[in-house]
Amino acid sequence: MIPDTSKRTRSEVLFRHASKLIPGGVNSPARAFGGVGGTPPFMKKGEGAYLFDVDGNQYIDYIGSWGPHLFGHRHPKILQAVEHALTIGTSFGAPTEAEAELAQLVIEMVPSIEMVRMVNSGTEATMSAIRVARGFTGRNGIIKFSGCYHGHVDSLLVSAGSAALTLGCPSSPGVPAGATADTLVLPYNDCESLQAAFEKNNAELAAVILEPVVGNMGCVVPTPEFLSLLRALCTQYGTVLIFDEVMTGFRVAAGGAQSLFGVTPDMTTLGKIIGAGLPVGAYGGRAEIMNCVSPVGKVYQAGTLSGNPVAMAAGIAMLSLIRSENPYPKLEEISKTLASGFQQAADEAGVPVRINRVGSMLTVFLTSQEVRDLATATTSDTVRFSKWFHGLLNRGVYLPCSQFEAMFVSAVHSTSDIDQTITAAKAAFADLSV
Ligand SMILES: *Cc1c(COP(=O)(O)O)cnc(C)c1O
Repeated sequence: MIPDTSKRTRSEVLFRHASKLIPGGVNSPARAFGGVGGTPPFMKKGEGAYLFDVDGNQYIDYIGSWGPHLFGHRHPKILQAVEHALTIGTSFGAPTEAEAELAQLVIEMVPSIEMVRMVNSGTEATMSAIRVARGFTGRNGIIKFSGCYHGHVDSLLVSAGSAALTLGCPSSPGVPAGATADTLVLPYNDCESLQAAFEKNNAELAAVILEPVVGNMGCVVPTPEFLSLLRALCTQYGTVLIFDEVMTGFRVAAGGAQSLFGVTPDMTTLGKIIGAGLPVGAYGGRAEIMNCVSPVGKVYQAGTLSGNPVAMAAGIAMLSLIRSENPYPKLEEISKTLASGFQQAADEAGVPVRINRVGSMLTVFLTSQEVRDLATATTSDTVRFSKWFHGLLNRGVYLPCSQFEAMFVSAVHSTSDIDQTITAAKAAFADLSV
């Protein structure tokens, strides 16, 4: 039976109230339903693969807090670790053993990372990585790709994905032209323009940053030629190759996209899963580069709450769980079933879709074109997507509220959750043709 979760009166009251106090009623724009319209449900509780809103509705959750909850909400091992950390103290502003323990796990799991520093968000990680790459090379230029999102860093907020894309403001007021003057934006998966950009600017290029599987224009998969050309050009010209694995790290494989595709970046940024739902980010890479960071080197980067003991405990529990459980074969299997269910449901309703998926990251693009970059992603019918999204939400399935985001399957989604989702998707696709 498909539930009816369309009554959300308490959420509406709370949203109106919050909107008077907080810009748009939210503390991060992606949550505001800007791309699909309507009122976001206010959540009360999470449990495993489910979310419960303040009106008593239950949803199968495919956002997982936008990535972190690889093992669903309230996994007992993670809760235990956090509870234990709380009994000791929330923050000391002095070194603790847990910081090196998490660093060791990261270094063992992510092939290219020899040294790592903890920060408090993905944005902080990419901002710091860019600074270190510039300090290391003594150059200023950066290449980023349109549709990739790297947090709200000034120099990277050009043709950015995620909510910046959905809300139609690819660059933001408040970012001075000077801050982006050294940022070159290229189309994703386009080897020719990459080659040309290097030929023209190689003496100035400090870094290339990319999502090695994109999530923030919806899921877009890199071609092997694109990744190997990136690696070759960066090596040839001494440019730092930064994989922004804030989303893909520990998501597409225990070692991230770099282990899946066998391409070794010079630096990697992490976030989301590494904090298991607490605010953690990290950046790391070759020791030679990381030794530029203060207090060893001259590149300044700091944080009062960086390496916070409660957050470290959550991260250690998460990475330990990944090692002991190896969730990836199961994630692959159920995500594959889900994707083919979506495809079949769309086919039956005569709705053209393109589904991109890498492991438990996937996007159903409402377009008939193959999606390989921002230009092809934006051929999607966003009005239709909004209708489909609400059709699913009202049937108890909580998807990212934008065509240009990836959905996430967790290791605790059951086959019956997947079946129920496909049933709801069929009904929501059928609504589109009436
Ligand atoms: C989410 C995300 C960020 C930003 O992380 P925050 O923790 O939101 O600052 C950066 N890069 C990528 C690829 C992301 O998905």
